[in-house]
Amino acid sequence: MATRGGWVRRGAIGAVVVICLLGLAALFAPYVYAELMAPLNPHAITDPQPAVLAKGHMVDDYFAVEPIGPATFAIGEPRYYQQNYAYLIIGQKRAVLFDSGSGTRDIGPVVRSLTRLPVTVIVSHLHFDHLGGIGAFGKLDMIDLPQTRADFDHGRLHPKRYEFMGFEDGLATPSPTVEAWLKPGESLDLGGRSLAVLSTPGHTPSSVALYEPAAHRLFIGDFIYPTTLYAFLPGASLSAYRATTKRLLADLPGDTILWTAHCCRVGEGIAAPWLGMRDVRDLDLTLSRLQAGQLHATGFYPRRYPVNHEMTIETGFPWNNP
Ligand SMILES: [Zn+2]
Repeated sequence: MATRGGWVRRGAIGAVVVICLLGLAALFAPYVYAELMAPLNPHAITDPQPAVLAKGHMVDDYFAVEPIGPATFAIGEPRYYQQNYAYLIIGQKRAVLFDSGSGTRDIGPVVRSLTRLPVTVIVSHLHFDHLGGIGAFGKLDMIDLPQTRADFDHGRLHPKRYEFMGFEDGLATPSPTVEAWLKPGESLDLGGRSLAVLSTPGHTPSSVALYEPAAHRLFIGDFIYPTTLYAFLPGASLSAYRATTKRLLADLPGDTILWTAHCCRVGEGIAAPWLGMRDVRDLDLTLSRLQAGQLHATGFYPRRYPVNHEMTIETGFPWNNP
């Protein structure tokens, strides 16, 4: 039979264990939250209802195809729970598909219905909702950074667990062939049309954007989009986010339109999601005030801050989201 002193000692040990576990959870919050996100937020992958589009037309009752400029198409997945948008940019010699879709349906036939030219796939980043459809192509061009080279072995890219994050939806990580390495700042010639490859860390360290100088058009991925920006997952960095906003503001014309990867704009219904440089300025201001400790968050983890009427940003704790 335990004495009173024994119970007190056990209680104290239990309290120390709980405090240590909470400390570890706070220290590794991006990873803990990533692991808990799916069980805490059960969701259907595909909305069973047909999508009602504000622009474009449906293909195969799943993909939304919307011309957004000459030989330029948004290919959306409005019934997918994350409402992703990929972009097909067609030149005279070849086309670039920016993001391969989630892989919930095969995006290959839609792409082939829009161009017969060779298609180069470049993904905005390695998360499963952007790389999941790469199986339709099997290969991609990859930004040449130390962290992407670290994933490269025997001609293939092997994204790590927290780079692909497919465990959220029970997806196996793909290992596509890397056809070419792209230097940050490199210009891609599509034939009569060129795109600049930009390194845009923040959401993830190896995030990429494509800029079309002739059209003042930026394909930006998940760095910025209407609704809620995720700056709290493993690899996200607020200082990298801020450095990228400052660089975009310094380098791009004020009338640049940003074509983003998640739908939708406030009050516009389901259509390819876009933002302007004013939204980049608003994000930059929010990040500077956030880093100066001038903003109050709502929520414990992730911590949510308003940006403007189109966006909020969710961050981690200062010590694991520097
Ligand atoms: Zn995404």
